[in-house]
Amino acid sequence: MTRVLAAAGAQQADAAAAPAGPGAPLALCAPLAALADAGLEVPVLGGGVVRHVNLDVAASAPALDSVVAHVARLLPYYASVHRGSGYPSQAITALVDEARATVAGHVGARDDDLVVFTRNTTDALNLLASAVPGETVVLDIEHHANLLPWRERRVVAGRATIAATLEALDAELAARPAALLSVTGASNVTGEVLPIDRIARLAHAHGARIAVDAAQLLPHRRVDLAASDLDYLAFSGHKAYAPFGAGALVGRADWLDEAPPHLAGGGAVGAVGIGGVDWKRGADRHEAGTPNVVGIAALARALAELERLGDECRREHERALTERLHRGLAALRGVRVIRGFDDADDRLGIATVELERGSVGLLAAALAAEHGISVRAGRFCAHPFFDRVARRSNGLRASLGAGSSADDVDRFLDALARLVADGPAHAYERTPGGWCPRVDDRPRPEID
Ligand code: PMP
Repeated sequence: MTRVLAAAGAQQADAAAAPAGPGAPLALCAPLAALADAGLEVPVLGGGVVRHVNLDVAASAPALDSVVAHVARLLPYYASVHRGSGYPSQAITALVDEARATVAGHVGARDDDLVVFTRNTTDALNLLASAVPGETVVLDIEHHANLLPWRERRVVAGRATIAATLEALDAELAARPAALLSVTGASNVTGEVLPIDRIARLAHAHGARIAVDAAQLLPHRRVDLAASDLDYLAFSGHKAYAPFGAGALVGRADWLDEAPPHLAGGGAVGAVGIGGVDWKRGADRHEAGTPNVVGIAALARALAELERLGDECRREHERALTERLHRGLAALRGVRVIRGFDDADDRLGIATVELERGSVGLLAAALAAEHGISVRAGRFCAHPFFDRVARRSNGLRASLGAGSSADDVDRFLDALARLVADGPAHAYERTPGGWCPRVDDRPRPEID
């Protein structure tokens, strides 16, 4: 696998010059930001390479170039945080403190909110689940990360519309109080965005707090805790162009100060005796052990970079490409786009389709092996939702990000149309790990 930057430049110029369709300004259909995978070439079956098209960014996004550069600059100083007297250790300690402030600022945290660094959204929601003093209400549309951690959980089935779903939530909370309502900011299956400001008002009207799973929303939209009156926000760096293993839980301190430490160990304690432990309060309580300095710094830098790109610009870029994607899918025979809500009028650059006939797993394998296009097939860790809204057992998801271009969308639509109409050009077999080419002559990448 070769990464040819000169070719990348040329191809991105092509992407920028591609017809953007009615109403979509040309520049918006070029990549919005430079990412580490720009210009990556991947081998295809039968020989040759093509420019990789990454339409799986909802799962994990490549690093922003500026994040990679930041990490490279900090690595010479890498040293222990908080415990070292040396210059590098103090520099790195300051960097982590600044990163916490950057993250807090980016998500509109209130002065007394905590920013607890975690591994990812799953980790953040598990931490919050250990702190909730009572029941948690969730919708059935949630990713498993926002469905499974809650110890006392009540699940409300989504309705055909967002409006009816909010009514159902309202009725549930009116019938029986809950400590917390935890909702996704946007579905990782359909990209549909939920009205979190309205849901926050609804929760608070019934005396419940609100947590938002912003794993999908945050990389695409500015989310503001104070402005939207949210109590907690959970998100992952690896979906926000900082794939170095850090995420965060941001929000109200009181429950977290009362909760058992997320990890027991050094850094989370004031004093330790054989007979007892004085656990700290604040973020330290839940961040025992050596923190993931690189991940934390990368996450903060990525959020700062997203802020620099600007919310409106990101929305415009995504809107243009998402419309192009959905317009193309609507025109394809044999595929059906999955929707959760009839009245959802706002969606991220995510589209999941199911096939009238055939296997989406096979199609995803052929898209990769024959066309160099990465997508995802499955139920996307949202089984209850998928099983309620889909007709088939699996879907194929294409997801866009800041590195996506109109050319990416067009290549996907073109390849999908050909595969649906004619089937793959090569033979595939089903293995325990999914569909694979029967003969795979693609060389392994040289990563050393
Ligand atoms: N929530 C949503 C909406 C997601 O899309 C994902 C990841 N697919 C998660 C939570 C879990 O994120 P992570 O794997 O980073 O913990």
